[in-house]
Amino acid sequence: MKEAARQARAESRVVGLVPTMGALHAGHLSLIERAKRECSPVIASIFVNPKQFGPNEDFSKYPRTFESDSEKLQRAGVDSLFAPEAKEIYPDGFSTYVNVDGLSERLEGRSRPGHFRGVTTVVMKLLQIVQPNFAYFGRKDAQQSRLITQMTRDLNLDTEIVVCPPVREPDGLALSSRNVYLNAEERKAATVLYRALEAVKSELAAGVRDALQLQGVLHRTLGAEPHARVDYAEIVDAESFESIVRVNKSCYVLLAVFIGKTRLIDNLSIETKSPGSEELVFHF
Ligand code: AMP
Repeated sequence: MKEAARQARAESRVVGLVPTMGALHAGHLSLIERAKRECSPVIASIFVNPKQFGPNEDFSKYPRTFESDSEKLQRAGVDSLFAPEAKEIYPDGFSTYVNVDGLSERLEGRSRPGHFRGVTTVVMKLLQIVQPNFAYFGRKDAQQSRLITQMTRDLNLDTEIVVCPPVREPDGLALSSRNVYLNAEERKAATVLYRALEAVKSELAAGVRDALQLQGVLHRTLGAEPHARVDYAEIVDAESFESIVRVNKSCYVLLAVFIGKTRLIDNLSIETKSPGSEELVFHF
């Protein structure tokens, strides 16, 4: 992989990388499409990274669909697929980690200790191996995208991080490899995340700006769904991921909710039309 990427760079080609854990869906393919518009070659990676799963998480049962994934990537026009073994990425004696302080401890980091250290370490390795001009990530994982952008800045990497919007099912559920864990009843219940984000948007459109009041709306909507158990439902500053008290700057509404045993995340991105403006722009 290093040799192929080095060759492409030597030919002054624009190298794009799309890192994934496989079990590919239309969300992943949207990142590939974007990369194809901006780069050639486009390299996709599939690596179910053991270091980002906690001891009680779903590493062993995470969906692995390599054959159909590689067909999808081929059809999408990906130039190379990088699918290393865990032993290649973490040989015996591996002992160097990348951690983004602060940001990695909040929200997802609080619920999943060590998760982001695993993510930033593997993404750093992938970026070192491929040294792409652009790497593509999904805003569905808003905190992850923010952390990776911070890491590339802090460590002076020559890769520009491109963050792409979430792809959703027609009923609003964000596509996720973990959606296959949901049974029919849970699948219906899972739309509650999107409905909660919609409810907040309506309140904001009606002029509500108080974060506590908006959080109340989130908890009432999520609480009305018997299959849902809230892990967190917060409104945070888009840069620091610290809670805010008023929606008057760029921020995220972030949700992590268990539907049965399946933990789903989603978010609504909110921007002010111009700095200090009361007018808001919403991105689902
Ligand atoms: P994963 O395979 O879940 O690690 O995801 C690989 C990349 O795809 C990450 O950058 C995710 O943020 C992104 N991704 C996951 N789900 C979606 C989605 N529904 N829409 C767009 N991108 C997504």
